[in-house]
Amino acid sequence: MNELGTCSPEPLQTKDSFRFRCHPGVPCFLVCCRNVRMLLYPYDVLRLKQCLRMHSADFLARHVELCEGSHQYFPGLKLRLSEQEGNPCPFLTEEGCGVYQDRPSACRTYPLERGVRKETQQAGLTSLYFLTRHPWCKGHEEPHQYTLRQWDREQELYDWNLYNDYWAELDAFFSRNPWAGEGKAGPLQQLAFMVCYNIDAFRAYTEEHRLVEQYRLQKNERRALQNSDAALLVFGFKWLEGVLGGRKQLLAR
Ligand code: SF4
Ligand code: SF4
Repeated sequence: MNELGTCSPEPLQTKDSFRFRCHPGVPCFLVCCRNVRMLLYPYDVLRLKQCLRMHSADFLARHVELCEGSHQYFPGLKLRLSEQEGNPCPFLTEEGCGVYQDRPSACRTYPLERGVRKETQQAGLTSLYFLTRHPWCKGHEEPHQYTLRQWDREQELYDWNLYNDYWAELDAFFSRNPWAGEGKAGPLQQLAFMVCYNIDAFRAYTEEHRLVEQYRLQKNERRALQNSDAALLVFGFKWLEGVLGGRKQLLAR
């Protein structure tokens, strides 16, 4: 639903609680899974393609559209909605969300919106949560109260936040236009697009170019890269930043 909502002017503090409950008994159940503008981050794509047992390239071709990213130097992705009446999310079933365990960050976090802040160059990212309200969402009228920590735990936000933070750091680097004057969709930007959004193609690329072997990594790190798409995504982010002239986070052998 694209009606405009409101957002709390200040981020919630850890000690704050908010009133909300979403369950099949609310009158608006699944209203928010229709006609929604849903941005997808690299880890969202990775989890959804795993859940649907699709190659990431097929997932992109079928379920994703390019959109404006957070700045002009790299595109964002949004979910392609079904053309059926009401434009439902393609993963919506009669019983509810068909990808619930792997649903994207935006669905997990709602009715909160998460931003991040970097206090110093050396520091990690700090989360900021804002409470949003849309007129169609009746979850705010339910009596249940959550603290931020309870919401985080119940929605299992940890992994999504972790990998979204890696992405936020890389995207901030992209915002400095590291494409060596290539402009949009040049070879370097296409390489970056593959690393960020098409993890199965990047896996094939690492094997073809024997990429992992070129860096000093512990045995357990190599094993993780073989077995985990998420580990490969983080490796890819670090590798990419080095290739594009940013921080060298991987040591060559
Ligand atoms: S992914 Fe699931 S929760 Fe999110 S909009 Fe689609 S059906 Fe709804
Ligand atoms: S309560 Fe809000 S989040 Fe839950 S189904 Fe209704 S509109 Fe969606």
